[in-house]
Amino acid sequence: MATLSMTQPPTAIDSDYIDVTTQHLVRVAGWAVLLIGCSIAVLLALDPSIQRSRVVFNLGAALVGGLALLLARMGRWRLAAHLLVWGVWLFVSLVSVRNGGVRGPNLLNYPVLIVLSGWMLGGRVTLLLAALTGVLFGGFFWADALGRMPPVPEGNTTAHMVYLCGILLLTAAATLLSRRNYLRRVVEAQRTATDLAASEAELRKLLRAVEQSPESIVITDLQECIEYVNQAFLLRTGYSRAEVLGRSSEAFSSNGLGPAQRQGLRETLARGEVWAGEQVNQRKDGRPLAEAVVVAPIRQPDGRISHFVELKQDITERKRAADEIHRLAHYDALTSLPNRSMLVEHLAGLQAQPGHGPVSVHALLLLDLDRFTTFNDARGSEMGDRLLCAMALRLSRQLPPEGLLVRVAGDEFAIVLHGLGNDVAQAGRNALAFAAQVQTALGLPMRLHGDAGPTQWTASVGITLYPQSAEDRVQDALRRASTALHRAKVLGGGQVAFFEQEMGQAAEQRFRVERELRQAIGAGELRLFLQSQVDVRGTVVGAEVLVRWQHPRDGLVAPGVFIPVAEASDLIVLLGRWVLEQACQLLARPWFARQRVRLSVNLSARQFRQPDFVAELQQMLECSGADPTLLTLEVTEGLVIEDFDDVVAKMRALVALGVEFSLDDFGTGYSSLAYLKRLPIQEIKIDRSFVRDASTNADDGALVEAILSVARHFGMRVVAEGVETRAQADYLVERAPAIVYQGFLFSRPEYQAQWLERQQAVTVGATE
Ligand code: C2E
Ligand code: MG
Ligand code: MG
Repeated sequence: MATLSMTQPPTAIDSDYIDVTTQHLVRVAGWAVLLIGCSIAVLLALDPSIQRSRVVFNLGAALVGGLALLLARMGRWRLAAHLLVWGVWLFVSLVSVRNGGVRGPNLLNYPVLIVLSGWMLGGRVTLLLAALTGVLFGGFFWADALGRMPPVPEGNTTAHMVYLCGILLLTAAATLLSRRNYLRRVVEAQRTATDLAASEAELRKLLRAVEQSPESIVITDLQECIEYVNQAFLLRTGYSRAEVLGRSSEAFSSNGLGPAQRQGLRETLARGEVWAGEQVNQRKDGRPLAEAVVVAPIRQPDGRISHFVELKQDITERKRAADEIHRLAHYDALTSLPNRSMLVEHLAGLQAQPGHGPVSVHALLLLDLDRFTTFNDARGSEMGDRLLCAMALRLSRQLPPEGLLVRVAGDEFAIVLHGLGNDVAQAGRNALAFAAQVQTALGLPMRLHGDAGPTQWTASVGITLYPQSAEDRVQDALRRASTALHRAKVLGGGQVAFFEQEMGQAAEQRFRVERELRQAIGAGELRLFLQSQVDVRGTVVGAEVLVRWQHPRDGLVAPGVFIPVAEASDLIVLLGRWVLEQACQLLARPWFARQRVRLSVNLSARQFRQPDFVAELQQMLECSGADPTLLTLEVTEGLVIEDFDDVVAKMRALVALGVEFSLDDFGTGYSSLAYLKRLPIQEIKIDRSFVRDASTNADDGALVEAILSVARHFGMRVVAEGVETRAQADYLVERAPAIVYQGFLFSRPEYQAQWLERQQAVTVGATE
């Protein structure tokens, strides 16, 4: 602890300090000198035989006494004491010279003066006085020996009596007074010593209490530099006293405090208030130390804050116990997975906060192992536990990083899939895909410890999406998932059921399409169909490549069924690549080059955005030997909305190869003319919805005219899609004589081999 410094009380040794004894003595001696001097002077004056000088000297002494009293009254105690001692000494010496020196009657004065001087003026003055007196006495002896000393004159007996009585009284009074003051001082000193000893014992007790306190105590100065730490702090943190004293509290005693918390602490202390909070500080070895901390200002008696004291309670153990209680309350003891109450809490936390933008839905899956009860009954609960643990492990391996896996009860598990977006249908499909993946994983053969051979398991899964509205409650979601699970169980095990049945069917169908399409590409189930594009004279100038899926079970599937599914995943890239490859091979057939017939291939945005798309197409063209100038790529307006510059750069690279671009379904998308101007586009396709109604609906008619005029302005070719009637064709040709038709009026999409055969036959016929 910091040493206590005390200001020493003044002592009589200090030259300027006048104590009570001196004051009393000055007063007593002053009065005594005044009275004795006056009395003797009066008595001597009445005696005619006495020399006048002796009267004057005694009056002089009395005057000294009076002056000393006056100075004392003015508070000039020391001056008064000096005046008394030296003044009286002078007059006494003058009288002594007159009265026969050492043989005279006045010598008693000197010891009295020396005693008074000793009490009033201290050692040095008294030694000087004694020395001078000694010299004076020496002088007297010397003068006496030489016979130069006057004889002892006749005295006045009364005056001498007064003198002796006065001297005796003064000596007695001065001595008793001094003794009384001295004794009082001794008593006071003893009392002070006792008080000091008591307060020191108190201090030691407090110091020991602080030092041995089981809680850490740190005292810092106002700059937060550590001035004191107790033993508990050293034991807890592992630092030595030398390592922390004089160092910043921020680095040692409160090193776990975040900037915001520290700011709060400083502001509280600046207001002179007490701060309390929890901190996780670091011990010397880096291990965390959870502490409940109170920091308080230390005030001096005048109210000024001089230090801060930190009182720190180690709550690591309490926290650990709280964590353990939390774990027991929120985790399943068998599998160590979170339990039902954690699931409820978690789902409640996912409920959308009002006004926080579009709500992202989550999926809640309830899984139940089929045949578990039978297994448990037959093989015993120990094997049942083993199976549950093994299942928990398999499930946890399937869990996406942000997912939550819970053991709800018995053989029932729950999985929460987070942030599936705000497209509910897509979220449903993702949940379904995940359920299928989990079922596959659970279905792999498993051999439990103690089992003779591997067994296979299935699980029923019930799915619901959550939250379904701002009012959707956790209990509702659990009930929905449970209903769905029940439905899946009823289906006979190994099944997945949605609570939202329609969504389940739609999701199921899309999911199935996606799964089968993935295989279909590799299995050669896709077919290229071609639909002719003819000029106003009816000559085929090109054909659009349209993909079909020859499904083994469902027959020929239209692209409207599977292209949107493929576009939602990377499947469209595989599919698009396959179509382009086939189209290039087809285009490489000599007939196309001969007839200058173009092929238009639909391109998906995702496919076009592949970083190596340009290089890939270039390679396809080179490998197949197709003429790039006969290839048209159909893109939609949606493609150019994102990353415009990159798209344009890629388009330009392909245009440089000779490939042309057509803007498909023009008018249905964003249709910014500003885009159109900057895109390297050679063709526009009027969407069939406008073509259908242009001749009958004024709005559509106006739109078609506007499209035609834009195309004319930019010098683009125009292909009209979906021309089904002569009236539509006539309407168009009236407004655009160079228009190209594509529609059922001229031909339907046809399998590529047949289409080519027919075209070849026509052209051969024409040339013949
Ligand atoms: P699209 O590119 O606008 O293709 C034109 C669609 O209109 C084709 O439907 C075609 O059969 C249809 N059509 C043509 N003339 C008429 C008509 O007179 N009346 C009617 N009602 N319809 C007509 P399809 O083949 O079902 O293709 C639908 C869409 O699928 C295409 O629209 C295209 O967006 C997409 N698609 C087709 N094949 C591919 C492909 O290989 N890749 C990509 N990415 N998309 C493709
Ligand atoms: Mg098209
Ligand atoms: Mg189209």
